[in-house]
Amino acid sequence: MAGKITEIEAKDYEEHVLGAERAVLDFYSTECPPCEALAAKYEPVSELYGDDISFFKIFRQENREFAESLGVTASPTLIFYKNGKETGSRLSGGIRRSDLTDRLDCLLPEARAKEIRESIQPVKTGCQALILGGGPAGLTAGLYLAQARVDTILVDTALPGGYVSRTHQVSNYPGFIEPQQGVMLAHYMSEQTKAAGVAYRAAVDVTSVDLDKKEVLIDGFETIKARKIIIATGSSPRPLGLEGEKEFAGNGISYCATCDAKYYEGKDVIVIGGGNSAIEEALFIAKFARSITIVHQFAELQANKEAQEKAFADNRITFMFEHEPRAFRKHGTMDMEVVVEDLKTGGRKSLRTNGVFVFVGFIPNLSGFDPRLSKDQWGYLVTDGEMQTNIEGVYAAGDVRTKTYRQITTAVADGTIAAISISRGLP
Ligand SMILES: Cc1cc2nc3c(=O)[nH]c(=O)nc-3n(C[C@H](O)[C@H](O)[C@H](O)COP(=O)(O)OP(=O)(O)OC[C@H]3O[C@@H](n4cnc5c(N)ncnc54)[C@H](O)[C@@H]3O)c2cc1C
Repeated sequence: MAGKITEIEAKDYEEHVLGAERAVLDFYSTECPPCEALAAKYEPVSELYGDDISFFKIFRQENREFAESLGVTASPTLIFYKNGKETGSRLSGGIRRSDLTDRLDCLLPEARAKEIRESIQPVKTGCQALILGGGPAGLTAGLYLAQARVDTILVDTALPGGYVSRTHQVSNYPGFIEPQQGVMLAHYMSEQTKAAGVAYRAAVDVTSVDLDKKEVLIDGFETIKARKIIIATGSSPRPLGLEGEKEFAGNGISYCATCDAKYYEGKDVIVIGGGNSAIEEALFIAKFARSITIVHQFAELQANKEAQEKAFADNRITFMFEHEPRAFRKHGTMDMEVVVEDLKTGGRKSLRTNGVFVFVGFIPNLSGFDPRLSKDQWGYLVTDGEMQTNIEGVYAAGDVRTKTYRQITTAVADGTIAAISISRGLP
């Protein structure tokens, strides 16, 4: 095994892990993209910290009972130990290198942690094309580039898959007769692109982006220099910017039904918004919740007719038209208050609910990017027909780009065009 890592089995746990002064244990599985993303960081980090901390790995599938006895229910899961006792919180899912090194630093005396940090050597990597963002647009661009023998690296601040991996079901992506689970469709796309030969840097911190030099610094130490860059960073849910929203985001207020609807089994929920995503997501939440109140600023819904018909036919869903939220308050676990204003009368009232879902549109993910990039009035990137931005050699694809319809099919089309344009232009 590369790095300073020892593979153990359940029977070795007490002697090796609990017997070490400082240790970290990785529960991994096969066919697990987040485990692969972690492995690419665990090995080099073990080289750095391995003289001070013992690094272990254990194959969860073959040590299932043992994993369960420690309460490990997801792969990968990292557990940290000091003098035979678990310490600090566990890490799981798409684990960033910085989260891992922060936890390891906590196991060490401050001066030693600093010494190790300072010993980190900067790394310079070259490639022909660098893709920022591994959603449908970035993955498709990577697939086409790799198949055209263009040396390509794909960088994602999370795990590849983009929004699709958080979409419950996709029924309009060609090639599948039955609706596909978003997470599986994203998985197929990501594996296909990886198999084509694209190198991934997943769950990383993008420290800086220099579009003139075509250099991207990740995790503070690896500079990737490319000849062309594709920005395929997608968009994020638009916050309402109201009192209590930031405070209770993820703790009473959610922006992702696929992620959180399951926690509202038999509960009452308020959905803010009336467009496609609000109504489609409300229909999904209705699989779990006892009641859903849709608060919408206009007198009618903006969602597609099919979704509207389904929502109106569902007796668990009620509508509060021409109302807007003004503040969010929390009174206890699953006890939220939403202050709403009647836009016709200006009168305000308080609604009590178990949870709130906000679906009021999106904003492009462009923080930290060169302000010279040309944008439309909503902040989305403007490109020509080849997907090139106003900065030479910099392309944009997918939801981050100005366009009328943001769908998986339009994102993969953008990625295709950008990749073909790049591959034709490179010698
Ligand atoms: C609730 C919901 C349901 C939907 N359902 C459907 C549907 O049924 N059918 C359909 O066709 N479309 C659907 N869509 C739309 C579809 O998901 C998007 O159009 C599509 O995912 C856009 O792909 P993308 O690659 O442009 O961006 P995304 O899928 O958003 O991917 C962007 C990627 O970039 C990464 N990233 C962000 N910032 C950075 C950075 N600075 N550096 C590097 N990486 C970064 C993100 O982690 C992410 O992986 C839905 C959207 C939503 C919100």
